[in-house]
Amino acid sequence: MSRDYDLQPSASAAHRIDYRAELNDQQFAAVTAPPGPSLVIAGAGSGKTRTLTYRVAYLLDNGIAPENILLLTFTNKAAREMLDRVQSLLPVETRRLWGGTFHSIGNRILRHHADRVGLRPGFSIMDREDQKDLMDTVLASSGLDTTQHRFPKPEVLGEIFSLADNTGEGIKQVVHERYPYFAPVLEGILQMRALYAAKKLETNNVDFDDLLLLTLRLFQEHGDLCERYQRQFQFILVDEYQDTNTLQSELVELLAGPRGHLMVVGDDAQSIYSWRGANLKNILEFPRRFPQAKVYKIEVNYRSVPEVLTLANAAIAVNHGQFTKALRPARKGRGTLPALVPLDSPSAQAAFVAQRILELRDEGVNLNEIAVIYRAHFHSLEIQMELTKCGIPFAITSGLRFFEQAHVKDVAAFMKFALNRSDELSFIRLVRLVPGIGSMSAARLWDGWMKSNGARGETMSGVFSDYLLKLKVPRKAEKVWAQTCYTLDELLDAGGKPQPPAAMIRSVMEGVYEDYMQVKFKNYEQRQQDLEQLDNYSARFSDTGEFLSQLALVSGVDTDERPDSDTQDRVSVTLTTAHQAKGLEWGAVFAVWLAEGMFPNKRVLENGGEDGLEEERRLFYVTVTRAKDELYLTYPTMFFQARDGNVLQRPSRFIADLPSNLMEKWNVRSVFP
Ligand code: ATP
Ligand code: MG
Repeated sequence: MSRDYDLQPSASAAHRIDYRAELNDQQFAAVTAPPGPSLVIAGAGSGKTRTLTYRVAYLLDNGIAPENILLLTFTNKAAREMLDRVQSLLPVETRRLWGGTFHSIGNRILRHHADRVGLRPGFSIMDREDQKDLMDTVLASSGLDTTQHRFPKPEVLGEIFSLADNTGEGIKQVVHERYPYFAPVLEGILQMRALYAAKKLETNNVDFDDLLLLTLRLFQEHGDLCERYQRQFQFILVDEYQDTNTLQSELVELLAGPRGHLMVVGDDAQSIYSWRGANLKNILEFPRRFPQAKVYKIEVNYRSVPEVLTLANAAIAVNHGQFTKALRPARKGRGTLPALVPLDSPSAQAAFVAQRILELRDEGVNLNEIAVIYRAHFHSLEIQMELTKCGIPFAITSGLRFFEQAHVKDVAAFMKFALNRSDELSFIRLVRLVPGIGSMSAARLWDGWMKSNGARGETMSGVFSDYLLKLKVPRKAEKVWAQTCYTLDELLDAGGKPQPPAAMIRSVMEGVYEDYMQVKFKNYEQRQQDLEQLDNYSARFSDTGEFLSQLALVSGVDTDERPDSDTQDRVSVTLTTAHQAKGLEWGAVFAVWLAEGMFPNKRVLENGGEDGLEEERRLFYVTVTRAKDELYLTYPTMFFQARDGNVLQRPSRFIADLPSNLMEKWNVRSVFP
């Protein structure tokens, strides 16, 4: 006997998305493209990110498993938002999909294969400040004579190394092209590089660039792993491709393998990171490197009203080095032009922004739909003060990030050391919190620790204090030192395994850090609140290693997030630099400080030449194309400087170059009561 039995289509097919209705023809073609290389190149607000999002949905919808998709974005938050959107379109579990920045994906891969690149599991990620500290240590013990000729300081050394890594140009070329005045000490710089690299390995530390560099090397040197990941990532998608550097493009091309299942999207007119090594050629030469690549161009802008779009098109038209793209508006006009608003002073500018925000709120505009965008973080100061005065909530995405603050890093040092017993930096940082222990004693303690059995082997037998308390410390440090050692003990459970991060944070706070903060910081209570917030945030992680990686990635170059990531649910105005506003959009945008020397930035005007100026103009284009409905262009006509007194400000050339009939000039007067 036999029976016929029909297998019905799976649940996802029943939820089919109406791609035709949601996308225009070019977007649809890209979303449903056959496997193989493809490039979506289009202007701002034309739906590139939307296309990638629907592409992910389309692939999942057609039975591709989430873990076979790699989605690379400019920030981790962007990846999350795209995946949330996919999740809302499809009943598919997107958590298994690999999405995030190049750095976070690199980290994830390296964690699995640390030994293949000379690291041990549990390696620490250094941020810029850690990097500087480590370089200081290396420089001090290098025996290099840095007094003869001007020798770059650790920060500059870090910059040189980073540029060399990210551009693939090599130290010599970077020094000759970008730092010619250091040419006489090139030998010393090369020596420093080797010593620094060795020290990183020895202390089981990586810096940000290593997350890319070592991942690339891992794949170049280990064919088996490369093939494995090539097989896994059947579809690779990259947003904001115009701002990838050579290292990043090599990495994706290697992963895409000979089949080249790679879709990249970007806009050459929005390339704004060349100063950090971004290589516009990645996107411009894509069709040449992949001759079989399909190219999709979108010429409709869905974001902005025509009045804003016309101004944006005019702003970028002045640049020479670009593909001309005329974007047509999909939206209808509102009948009001972008506002040009000169103001007497920075404080008048701030007062204008605040008052206008309150009016917009009264008109029913949600504060989340309002952004203030500026060229440099310090431009936000008066505005921060004024918004505070007016009780307008705001979130700042520029400036010192939460995790870069000293007190957060102090607590993290304990956790990092508990996980990575070779981490000299973290060890030195935490022992130096003990009153009476200076850099000399700290270095001695490190030596003692390294010679002890505690530092050896995969796992430690016994607890930290078994080894550390045998070491000698200055008499006046003894009590707190003992407390510190016992605190370290508490970070591991009875089996020697790391505690979850929230438990660790609490142990450190209660064991030593509360006391330390009270004597060290005058704003102790505020910092305590920060740490409480960190504690809250960490509760979502059970694995401390993962938590620390997140922490490091968040404080790095490519992020935007804060521990109170529920800010999204809170209503607030966004204050952001133009660089960090990339890819985002708001109903109303205030572009402030549009004065010569501010935007375009003075330093770029002095050193950057024509290329620098073109990049500034692209940055201005990025700024104005963030606006959906309303755009305010403001600048102070006078600016008080401590040295020179009141200085007259000229409007930015980016405004002066615009036809005046594209803007409405607002004459703002102060009304005295
Ligand atoms: P940017 O260059 O700034 O990164 P983008 O090209 O990535 O912009 P998106 O952010 O994807 O553009 O889209 C801009 C806006 O237009 C979004 O609000 C998006 O939802 C909307 N949009 C894009 N395409 C369509 C469409 N076909 N129909 C309706 N709305 C669309
Ligand atoms: Mg985008």
